This record gives sequence, structure tokens and C-alpha cells, in this order.
Amino acid sequence: KFITLEGLDGAGKSTHLAWIADWLRVRGHQVVVTREPGGTPLGEMLRDLLLSQPMHRETETLLMFAARREHIDKVILPAMEKGHWVVCDRFTDATFAYQGGGRGIPLAKLEVLEQWVQDGLEPDLTLLFDVSPEVSEARLALNPTRDRFEQEKRDFFARVREAYLVRAQAHPQRIRVVDSSRAIAAIRAELETILKELA
Ligand code: C5P
Repeated sequence: KFITLEGLDGAGKSTHLAWIADWLRVRGHQVVVTREPGGTPLGEMLRDLLLSQPMHRETETLLMFAARREHIDKVILPAMEKGHWVVCDRFTDATFAYQGGGRGIPLAKLEVLEQWVQDGLEPDLTLLFDVSPEVSEARLALNPTRDRFEQEKRDFFARVREAYLVRAQAHPQRIRVVDSSRAIAAIRAELETILKELA
């Protein structure tokens, strides 16, 4: 099975990702934890470029999909073929949110690339950790080293969040919106309910 985690920076994805991977392992599943952009040696190089170099928004989009193509081929599909679970920190929904909503790339262009690169591959479950741009910003303020995306302004994050929620409405079966302004224990209880439907 293939699970992806999405949300604004500071939504708590990494904390929940580690917990989800442990939850699955305790139940006897083999779990591959990975991330985008990144996940392969070439993908991590592309990630470094994406996070540090200013570039045209279409260059950014194409590099995201280039890293994704490599990731699908080298990590995601091989793991799924072995019957392992793949838990991935961000996937294509992030591109619709950040490059689509945030940077204004038309969705039709992203859909072409999605079809080209994924060729029908979809996550079985996507957890969208939803927080307001204000909460995201307050949590990011605790982190002194910010990448190129994390330096964006609040209206950028408001557009990213909105695009995530629109995407969730378009894919109600796959994408579950988790209110991440709550305490961790409450979120975990909800995650457990969701995961039990799948595991
Ligand atoms: O989730 P993580 O912090 O590892 O993501 C790295 C950065 O890349 C984030 O600031 C995120 O906003 C950005 N990103 C993006 N578009 C994507 C995936 C990630 O702008 N498709």
C-alpha cells in the first residue's frame, strides 16, 4: 500500500509520519519511509537545488516531476512490488498545492505532467494535515533555518492551503483531511481509526 502525507510546512507531518511508520511496523508490515522532493540520490540532489536556488516556477515544477519520476521508478514501485508499505512525506498533491495554488501554474498543465509521470499510479491513502497559515507560520517561527519555500509570505500559504482543500474535495475517497490544530493525542486517535480501515 502507498500512503502519502501532505500539509503546510509546520503542520506536523514529520511527527505523524514517524508514528504512522511505527504503528504499521508493530502490526507486522514492512515499511519504506521516503519523501519528496527526494527519496533517491538524484532526487536528493534535485531537492537541494529546489530548496536553495531561485528559478522560474515552471522549472521548479518540472524538477519536482523529474525527481518524482525517479522516485517512482527506483523506490515506490519496487517496494510495492515486494508487498511493502510506502509512507511518503509529500507527493503530487503538494505540487498542485505549492506550484499550482502557491505559484499559479495552471492545473491543466500539472494534470498533463501527473498523467505522464505517474501513468495511473495513485496513493491508496493521503492524509492532509490541515492547519491555518497562522498556525503554520507560528510553528515555523520556532525553526531558525528556513528553506526557499518556508520564507514565503502568509498569503502564499493561504493559497497553498486552499489548493490542498480543493484537491481534497476533488478526491474525497483518497484524501482525508485531518485537523492538525488539535493536540497530538487527538490527532493520533483519528489516524488510528483511518489506518485500521486500510491495514
Ligand atoms: O516537507 P518538506 O519540508 O520536506 O518540504 C520541503 C519544502 O519543499 C517545503 O518548504 C515545501 O513547501 C516545498 N515543496 C514544494 N512543492 C512540492 C513539494 C515540496 O514547494 N511539490
